[in-house]
Amino acid sequence: MKVVVLTGAGISAESGLATFRDADGLWEGHHPEDVATPEAFAADRSLVQRFYDERRAGLGRVAPNAAHVALARLEETLGDDLFLVTQNIDDLHERGGSRRVHHMHGELGVAWCVACDRRTTWGGTLIDEPDCPSCGTAALRPDVVWFGEMPYGMDDIHRALFSCDLFVSIGTSGVVYPAAGFVDYAHAGGSRTLELNLERAANSDFHESRQGAATALVPAWVDEVIALHAARA
Ligand code: NAD
Repeated sequence: MKVVVLTGAGISAESGLATFRDADGLWEGHHPEDVATPEAFAADRSLVQRFYDERRAGLGRVAPNAAHVALARLEETLGDDLFLVTQNIDDLHERGGSRRVHHMHGELGVAWCVACDRRTTWGGTLIDEPDCPSCGTAALRPDVVWFGEMPYGMDDIHRALFSCDLFVSIGTSGVVYPAAGFVDYAHAGGSRTLELNLERAANSDFHESRQGAATALVPAWVDEVIALHAARA
């Protein structure tokens, strides 16, 4: 059985990371358009570098939760038949044990040099505008995809969506495109679709929708899939 799992900020909420738009419409006290667009970076580079520096530093204070760990367990069972794509820029899937994670919106732990186009694993800060380790130019930015930029790996993602048997969306509000449209691709490819979320998402056109916390819903669903897989083997 081929399964595509899409995760959003909701899967990391119980680890202590704020979701994108909290009740006040802000992301960690900022309007998303002030910290997550190329225009914002051009207008106030320091503010944006500091914002992502703080998010990167914050990763050291959180740990993966039962939902991340359950998806790693699913990967152990399904291997390459699981395609895990995340909108999250945190590293909690990897730290939960997942080995093949498609970060469509990039990663906090990577710096991108816009002068030489090299990517470098990055644990420190960028507010101090350090030189790129490859070309020596002070032109590093967080390797995260902002509004108006092209998400990574879309061809692979579309291919996986068209050819899967089951598409599962976890902890995402269904308002940020193109991820919000994945359910339509999955339907077009004839797959079954399932949503696991605190509340029904804005694009809730799934065959099945389960409401609750990710740490409860995801391990239970993974158990179901593993049992089904064992029964078919
Ligand atoms: P979102 O904040 O728009 O939506 C989060 C969804 O998760 C909501 O529908 C909410 O009901 C649900 N949710 C909240 N707590 C939950 C829980 N405990 N269990 C299950 N569901 C829960 O997030 P999104 O749709 O992923 O928005 C995407 C954008 O946010 C991306 O561009 C991403 O890069 C960025 N972002 C990433 C992180 C991260 O890496 N952890 C954090 C904040 C924002």
